[in-house]
Amino acid sequence: MDATAFPGAGTPFYVAGAAAHGAGEVTVTSPWDGRTVGRTTWAGDDQIEAAVAAAAGVAEEAAALPAHVRAAALDHVSRRLAERRQEIAELITAENGKPVKWALVEADRAVSVFRWAAEEARRFAGGLQRLDTDPGGAGRIAVVKRVPRGPVLGISPFNFPLNLVAHKVAPALAVGAPIVLKPAPATPLTALLLGSILAETALPAGMFSVLPLPNDRAAGLVADPRLPVVSFTGSGPVGAQIRRAAPEKHVTLELGGNAAVLVCGDYGGDDDLDWAAGRIATFGTYQAGQSCIAVQRVYVHRGLDLLSRLTREMEALRTGDPADPSVEVGPMINEEAARRVESWVDEAVAAGATVVTGGKRDGATYPPTLLTGVPAGAKVVAEEVFGPVVVVSEVPSDEAGFTAINDSAYGLQAGVFTHDIRTAFAAHRRLQVGGVIVGDVPSYRADQMPYGGVKGSGVGREGIASAMEDYTEPRVMVVAGV
Ligand code: NAD
Repeated sequence: MDATAFPGAGTPFYVAGAAAHGAGEVTVTSPWDGRTVGRTTWAGDDQIEAAVAAAAGVAEEAAALPAHVRAAALDHVSRRLAERRQEIAELITAENGKPVKWALVEADRAVSVFRWAAEEARRFAGGLQRLDTDPGGAGRIAVVKRVPRGPVLGISPFNFPLNLVAHKVAPALAVGAPIVLKPAPATPLTALLLGSILAETALPAGMFSVLPLPNDRAAGLVADPRLPVVSFTGSGPVGAQIRRAAPEKHVTLELGGNAAVLVCGDYGGDDDLDWAAGRIATFGTYQAGQSCIAVQRVYVHRGLDLLSRLTREMEALRTGDPADPSVEVGPMINEEAARRVESWVDEAVAAGATVVTGGKRDGATYPPTLLTGVPAGAKVVAEEVFGPVVVVSEVPSDEAGFTAINDSAYGLQAGVFTHDIRTAFAAHRRLQVGGVIVGDVPSYRADQMPYGGVKGSGVGREGIASAMEDYTEPRVMVVAGV
């Protein structure tokens, strides 16, 4: 594909809604074949200042924007993303390396995120509270309005270059909060394309900026008091750094995980195990495992023959050029990431693990890999592998499976394959995670549901309505004599 075919060639960024170029060229390359996908520039200090000052300056006007204006802008973005779906998916594939099959899913999800946000913008209204439940409150009522906490700083990772940006931008605009977005350095072009669509709306200048910045310059934005809300999605260490750097701010952290699946004792039919094996293979390796809820740990009730099925499914996955619509597993974001995964697998093998299938890196591509016999402390189970590696362990009971899932520094989502409603409720009660998916893998995320983790997986929740709550605070007005 011709690099200039992408709007990414010399792509501008957005300062207070206006297209801009900075200093210092950024070349975005394809993780698959290293070709140049497009170019942009880093935002300069004066442009950062202009974006932040404009966000702070427009905050009051933005908060007062009528719902129909906010909703119309969000609907416009949704429509335009839908119209440009194929082009956007190809751009995601080019800069991120994810198979176009998955990039199309991401584009479609972003379409619905903006549509949901438009609907929520029309509904989001606070409420009334009775005060006459006590004699002292007779004749009084409380009006509870939700007001934006202030301009939002959104910082997003490389693995969903559009949809995780959408999850920061859409709820902010829905509540009338300006947003300054800093996309991941490896994948800025999709965010800039979204910026060009936002620039088509009638939102006041200053309501959004999209600034390509290297990591160290982003740290300066985190400290800026004019951006009182920070919504961060990314790795644990950076999340911890942000929390330390901005203790007085309202910070949401969507961090990593080592998501687990439990295949329960009652789930032993052939159809059951075929379904579980297919889902685990697909979602242990989709996006080359670079998803915070990719299946990493699989606990299977003793006596169930999952392993042979899972091996077959993993070996049937098509790896290769992510632009090929039939390819299911493409390269990782770069060769360094694939080398890290390789070293973690090597470490597990040296400690006694068996590679059932996979395990041989080819440049930036790491193949679907299945491990058994991994000792508890090995990085491939204890830390976030963020690669297409699945570790299978047997457990003697469902209860032991719950304990194994909880034996983790993380807690994002868990998948529980069972038909037994009591087991489902027990999992929901026992598992220390933000979400339990019954009858499927933990990798299921509907964009409107509350989404986020506990322990090392983060603080706060995304999902349109949850993020809108997060970006606002209740302001009460008590009216006496009514
Ligand atoms: P990363 O932490 O390296 O980078 C994320 C973003 O933070 C990037 O935009 C980066 O430029 C910026 N950044 C880096 N250092 C910074 C600093 N000191 N101050 C401010 N910003 C800084 O993460 P990544 O490699 O892009 O993404 C992968 C990680 O994201 C994985 O750990 C994955 O699990 C996590 N993730 C979590 C979720 C979730 O919803 N929980 C979703 C997707 C990805």
